[in-house]
Amino acid sequence: MAVARQMSVALENRELFCNLQASRNELERANKVKDEFLSVMSHELRTPLSVVAGYSTMLRAEQLGPLTKEQALGVDVIQRNSKELFTMIESIMNATKIEAGSMIAENDAVSAAELLTELKVTYDFPTGKKIRFEWRCSETLPLLWTDGRKLRQVLTNLINNAVKFTDDGSIVISAEEKVEENDGCHRRYIEFRVSDSGIGIPAEERDKIFERFHQVDSSTTRSFEGVGLGLYIVKSFTEMLNGRVSVCSEVGRGSTFTVLIPLQPVAVELSNAVSR
Ligand code: ADP
Repeated sequence: MAVARQMSVALENRELFCNLQASRNELERANKVKDEFLSVMSHELRTPLSVVAGYSTMLRAEQLGPLTKEQALGVDVIQRNSKELFTMIESIMNATKIEAGSMIAENDAVSAAELLTELKVTYDFPTGKKIRFEWRCSETLPLLWTDGRKLRQVLTNLINNAVKFTDDGSIVISAEEKVEENDGCHRRYIEFRVSDSGIGIPAEERDKIFERFHQVDSSTTRSFEGVGLGLYIVKSFTEMLNGRVSVCSEVGRGSTFTVLIPLQPVAVELSNAVSR
């Protein structure tokens, strides 16, 4: 009787295990199909959108004939929305690449001061809001050995959010050197901060906002555009660069995102190995 009971339990377990395995395979397959679909769709959407953006630029430059004031305003709206759509498509493509594990960091010498100067030029245009930008960075910061394009994307996403969630106030972008001591090892970082005096983020949301597609208010009547991928990309890219990202915020007063990037990615790995 005891042997029979044990055998029936074993058979039941085996069946449960097989069912679980089948569901897992099915889920993995569905996830892969979804990622492939997103990736292909994003590629396909980019081509016609480039044409829309290209023609609207030609129209705005009056290369196809003079525009009335109203027509020029209409073309401005097309240009603004095409840019927004480009950003969303880029985000989806980046997120699918991250999920597929096909994103790699390509390290090079990067100057934080130069990066911030480049970004400053990009944001030197009217946002249509009463926002004052402040850029704080010393010229004497040491060079980073990191993936400059990914770092730029991280800062761009944070600054775009700061602009999006601030109607009237200030945005401060800064970079400074930090040294941390851990188990007798000194690690050198550049600390980037993007602070805004916008709407702020409730405490219970602060961890969740870094998840894929998470938005504080995801209702269809939400007044801010976006797909909820910006901070997921910020976190993934920062970790790819062996860095860390954190947020401090107060509802109604603003938010500060801090990104710590090590000067040398390998130095962190080595010192980790030593401390282990
Ligand atoms: P989205 O495309 O919606 O901006 P993100 O991943 O960049 O996606 O941000 C996720 C959510 O975190 C946003 O929808 C918003 O609710 C909140 N959030 C991000 N940055 C800020 C900020 N600077 N101020 C207030 N809320 C923010």
